[in-house]
Amino acid sequence: MLVVDVDGVLSDASGRQHLLAGAERRWEAFFEASVEDPPIPEGIALAGALAAGTEGGPSRPTVLLTARPARLADTTVAWLDRHGVPWDLLVMRVDGDHRSSPDVKRAALADLRATCHIPELALDDDPRNAEMYRSEGVPVVYFHSGYYDL
Ligand SMILES: [Mg+2]
Repeated sequence: MLVVDVDGVLSDASGRQHLLAGAERRWEAFFEASVEDPPIPEGIALAGALAAGTEGGPSRPTVLLTARPARLADTTVAWLDRHGVPWDLLVMRVDGDHRSSPDVKRAALADLRATCHIPELALDDDPRNAEMYRSEGVPVVYFHSGYYDL
């Protein structure tokens, strides 16, 4: 399976990063604004190509693994539908979980493996997550967004 990040790979969250600037980070407003994120066509196309695999080879199911809190599930699914992004499984941060993105994703990776899912390749824009995937033995494609606050 292909494990794909959402913010900074499929959706462009750059327009709401200012909500996390300064001493008082406005997390609620930051998450609420995600519904207006424009898509990143290149990231969506890349995820599709990686999921399709090589000619003659098997395709990979796509797991979206995001550090967005699960309370944004409806918003996120509506956004994915609106922009025609294909996916097979959506894994999100448990509400109230304040661990770092790499810690959340490392635990989710373990859960996936424990339930007989085999992560073959990951796509993420956070260098911390790229390092986590590498350390967990999952090859990773790094997609540079320039921001990764989740
Ligand atoms: Mg990201």
